[in-house]
Amino acid sequence: MKKQLLIIGGGFAGFWSALSAIRQSRELKKENELEVTLVNMDEYMTIRPRLYEVSLEGLRVELNKYFKPLGINLIIGKAEIIDPEQKKVTVATESGSRLLSYDYLILSSGSVLKAINIPGIENTFNVDTFYGAQKLEDHLIQLANKKFEGDGATTFVVAGSGLTGLEVATVIKEKANKILADLGQDAIEFEVVLIEKSEKIGSYYAPDAQDYVLETLKAKNISVANGVYLAAVENNGATLSDGRFIPSQTVISTVGLVASSLCNFFKGEKDKLGRLHVNEYLKLEEYQNVIAAGDVANIPVDDKGNSSLMACQFSMFLGKWAGHNAVNDLFSQPLKPYRYTDYVTCLDLGQQDGMLTSGWDRKLVASGMEGKTIKMEVTTKLIYPADDVKAALEESYPEVPNVSEKAV
Ligand SMILES: Cc1cc2nc3c(=O)[nH]c(=O)nc-3n(C[C@H](O)[C@H](O)[C@H](O)COP(=O)(O)OP(=O)(O)OC[C@H]3O[C@@H](n4cnc5c(N)ncnc54)[C@H](O)[C@@H]3O)c2cc1C
Repeated sequence: MKKQLLIIGGGFAGFWSALSAIRQSRELKKENELEVTLVNMDEYMTIRPRLYEVSLEGLRVELNKYFKPLGINLIIGKAEIIDPEQKKVTVATESGSRLLSYDYLILSSGSVLKAINIPGIENTFNVDTFYGAQKLEDHLIQLANKKFEGDGATTFVVAGSGLTGLEVATVIKEKANKILADLGQDAIEFEVVLIEKSEKIGSYYAPDAQDYVLETLKAKNISVANGVYLAAVENNGATLSDGRFIPSQTVISTVGLVASSLCNFFKGEKDKLGRLHVNEYLKLEEYQNVIAAGDVANIPVDDKGNSSLMACQFSMFLGKWAGHNAVNDLFSQPLKPYRYTDYVTCLDLGQQDGMLTSGWDRKLVASGMEGKTIKMEVTTKLIYPADDVKAALEESYPEVPNVSEKAV
């Protein structure tokens, strides 16, 4: 009987877990003793970091392009219940409920946009999933078909000024004008209002990077409302916590991510984002046969108190480690401790503009067109698997990457 490795989630972490597991099983000459199955809600690895972009083309990678030739089973469905004691997962599929058993589990079900409990939340848009981004795009097309006429049609409200909020705020006008151009219509001078609960925009950046962000928002005519938050949303506008009403037919929530609720099936303390604490091998302390990787995992990355962030530069590499270690654990081989101290952030700031920061204090390294080029290099190339399946398999080895070196 083959050992069953079950992976939940086919994003960056799950995809690389699956490939790494196959590669390592071949390395150990155990490929005939292992079956790898991955459960995902759809057939794609979605390139979530690009969902704010002007075009949604090329933002999904077909999982079976890699999985079929490598003999990885893909089950399309939603994992609903995990019973770690019985080593079973209940999955809802189109053809009914399935109960899957495993010898080893990799949890890589990622994160979701934080829910905010306000009246009219259903009137907001988001770029959290491909379907969310598609819904926003369809809405903009509808508005463009009506020449963006009507109260608040030309105003976009973006709630939250984290990395995603800044990217949406600086790109949304360009996206709307591209839709107008595709319809043969003239460009419009849109208005963007960025709402931030705290007093400062970009306080997570070093002062030089923070200043650059503020200058850019000003240069791009983006209004900022700080120290306030969304209190209610109707389909003709947003009410802010200070009582102000902003007429807008497009309110986009980018208020941050929380870990997949599947984490709650496991014992042990979670961090403030709902993530599971894992040890240096990515294992949960309470379970002998469970690894968590990607946005569901909180792993210390150095001895200065930093731990992994919800970012694909962590998720990809955690995935490569996860598959490797799961297979080694199944076949009683030594596990590889996760090491990753290099940290950079790339930010898109709209046309001809972007920013690269380096280190945990996020110091400015590159900006303007140079920053944009680096950002595009990372998001359109570095975070994709090689087109060739064999080459992608080779990329799955858990190696210490040097992202800043590769990016610059
Ligand atoms: C708009 C946006 C911009 C971002 N920009 C950046 C950036 O610039 N740089 C950066 O590093 N990171 C960025 N991120 C974060 C990055 O996308 C995530 O850190 C990364 O996607 C996490 O990878 P993951 O594999 O852990 O989870 P995910 O990519 O979330 O994948 C999880 C997968 O699991 C599936 N799944 C979830 N629940 C279940 C279930 N119950 N059953 C079956 N399948 C399930 C989901 O459908 C999904 O396919 C951004 C995210 C967003 C949304």
